[in-house]
Amino acid sequence: MGTKDGNGRGTVAVVGAGVVGAATALALASEGYLVTVFDHGEVGAGTSSGNAGGIVTGAVTPTATPGVIRSIPSYMLDPNGAAVLRPAYLFQAIPWLVRFVEAGRPKRVSSIAKALQPLVSHAMEAHLTLADLSQARGLIQPVGWLKVYGSEAGFSGNALERELMTRHGVNFSILNAGEVADLEPRLSKNAYTCGLFQPDSGFVNYPLALTHAYFEAARERRAQHVQESVLEVRPAQGGISIRTDRTMRLFDSVVVAAGAWSKRFATQIGDRVSLDTERGYHLSFALTADQLLRRPVCFPENNCVLSPMHDGISLVSGDELAGLNAPPDYRRIRALAPFARTVLPELTGQTIQREWMGYRPSTPDSLPVIGRSPRCRNVYYAFGHGHLGLTLSAITAKLIAGIVSERPEPFDINPYRINRF
Ligand SMILES: Cc1cc2nc3c(=O)[nH]c(=O)nc-3n(C[C@H](O)[C@H](O)[C@H](O)COP(=O)(O)OP(=O)(O)OC[C@H]3O[C@@H](n4cnc5c(N)ncnc54)[C@H](O)[C@@H]3O)c2cc1C
Repeated sequence: MGTKDGNGRGTVAVVGAGVVGAATALALASEGYLVTVFDHGEVGAGTSSGNAGGIVTGAVTPTATPGVIRSIPSYMLDPNGAAVLRPAYLFQAIPWLVRFVEAGRPKRVSSIAKALQPLVSHAMEAHLTLADLSQARGLIQPVGWLKVYGSEAGFSGNALERELMTRHGVNFSILNAGEVADLEPRLSKNAYTCGLFQPDSGFVNYPLALTHAYFEAARERRAQHVQESVLEVRPAQGGISIRTDRTMRLFDSVVVAAGAWSKRFATQIGDRVSLDTERGYHLSFALTADQLLRRPVCFPENNCVLSPMHDGISLVSGDELAGLNAPPDYRRIRALAPFARTVLPELTGQTIQREWMGYRPSTPDSLPVIGRSPRCRNVYYAFGHGHLGLTLSAITAKLIAGIVSERPEPFDINPYRINRF
């Protein structure tokens, strides 16, 4: 049964123990809610464990931008392009792709950037609040986010991004080759002619440890992890019922934070949403004695990032539309390994210790779904963070805790409502 505790706070189920679910559990538990997190897997072990670690506070540019429609054919024809669409998945991807193209219209890009701004600009502060509750400040490094460009043409390609960052007050600077070398001396000087640096961004070199820290702090505040697979979320008399592969329980409220698997629960509640997965890959080079990079370095012309994770350098890439069930295809990320060794010559000879794939939970407009279900007051949504789930997890948690507690929102959350689709 959904029971109120001594503080008069209710019981809340959180479906999904990724970084969004764990952060949300902590935000709610710290306010006195009795939280139960359902995940059939270990806490944080899925997509949230293998990302590039960026808390990218200047990420106001959506994935779909004007002209994206011209790129779609290359998704199927160019195996090394910005994104890959598996032909077998084309038919299923069409509705999402149509909305994706629509989201790339200039007017929509402007409004999406405006909606991303308050989320990303509050992201770091929200993480630090949760990190203070979980003694995890040391896991968040204030080292900024660096993009480097090999050519003038490549740099010109980010004109829209610079324009949107300027419009939304993002702190960034354009670096000449010498300034890039000062930041990252081990990068080959042939790898870039200039760079773009966002100094206010943060970096988590062990994302799984951050998710664990958030969840452990929630556990200290009475939250529990129930390792069961959720089959159904339904309104019921006296609350919301959660049916798993083993049990049925009643809660006062439910937060759906199941990443790329969230759509099914929204559908059960009667809310329509456009959610697909942009699968992403990494290769991990074995740890060298020296730290080769100080921060993630993004190579936009090659659609990849090199990130100095706790256990070695990760080569991170891939936007693959192939759904939730197709087996991984590591050919594209493997094809980038020689590039990684060229730009970071000390990787030459290093063995690859891991290949990994994760499921970005992606909406076509690059905005997450955050808020109360219009169909059912006690169901809340916290998913669809796409490329920015680590970045936006803590601010999402803060917003959800505020909505559950019926506090006024710190900024307009209307753009994140589920019924925009
Ligand atoms: C290659 C790559 C690089 C990335 N780099 C960055 C980056 O640098 N910065 C950034 O901000 N973001 C990055 N991201 C995005 C980020 O990792 C994701 O947006 C984020 O991890 C999503 O978190 P989540 O908690 O919503 O989902 P998940 O981590 O997927 O967690 C969802 C959980 O729900 C559980 N679940 C699903 N269905 C059920 C069910 N029926 N019952 C019980 N449990 C269920 C799953 O087991 C899972 O644990 C990257 C992603 C990838 C793939």
